[in-house]
Amino acid sequence: MSLYRDTGVVLRVQKLGEADRIITMLTRRHGKVRAVAKGVRRMTSRFGARLEPFGHVDVQFYTGRTLDVVTQVQTLDAFGVGLVNDYQRYTAGCAVLETADRLTLEQGEPAFRLYLLVTGALRALAEGSRDASLVLDAFLLRAMSFAGWAPALTECARCGVPGPHPAFNVPAGGSVCPRCRPPGSASPAEETLSLLAALLHGEWSVAEAASAGARREGSGLVAAHLQWHLERQLRSLPLVERRAKPLAAAVDKDNG
Ligand SMILES: [Zn+2]
Repeated sequence: MSLYRDTGVVLRVQKLGEADRIITMLTRRHGKVRAVAKGVRRMTSRFGARLEPFGHVDVQFYTGRTLDVVTQVQTLDAFGVGLVNDYQRYTAGCAVLETADRLTLEQGEPAFRLYLLVTGALRALAEGSRDASLVLDAFLLRAMSFAGWAPALTECARCGVPGPHPAFNVPAGGSVCPRCRPPGSASPAEETLSLLAALLHGEWSVAEAASAGARREGSGLVAAHLQWHLERQLRSLPLVERRAKPLAAAVDKDNG
């Protein structure tokens, strides 16, 4: 029996048999790990509520034949406690978990920067110190950047000519100059693209000064960009489950 230890965030839980659960975690050193937590659904479980989505935990596993098995858990941060009573922060948190899950396809593939990004976003959402929608969009932009999909915001996505450019096209890769602009491109306000650039680079004073209209428009562009890339990624992987869940469904409704 081989043991290993890591810290991770619980992304998702699924029922397994009568009393067990499969816990999907994003860990610091082992990337995404799916492991069995035995007896976790019994009232007397020694794991208690520590293995719920949003839990940031220190875990010991042993390597099983098919799935690894959780043997010890300690809570580092219970981010869920700060989220459950605020619908906007909760749904933003669910979107962080689901996106992290969908961006890490392979078990054990290192995802240290994404792990730091997820814990940072959940901490900001749980503390409520920043606008939830800005925290989510900053997370999504940076997570896409790690995946190599960051939208072009200041230069043309096609020819690289410096902007800002008044058009945005998701399949083209972001902002596009008037010469490269494909038909059907969006025409976001210049302020919106500046907001997205500020979120990508962590310039919070600029981001928090943005108007409500720019925030709304920016969220729409980020969501469209993410959706397009995730769908392409899923199409390229025939074994991945095709049916996309709505973002808010990241948490297993059945906690029984
Ligand atoms: Zn161009």
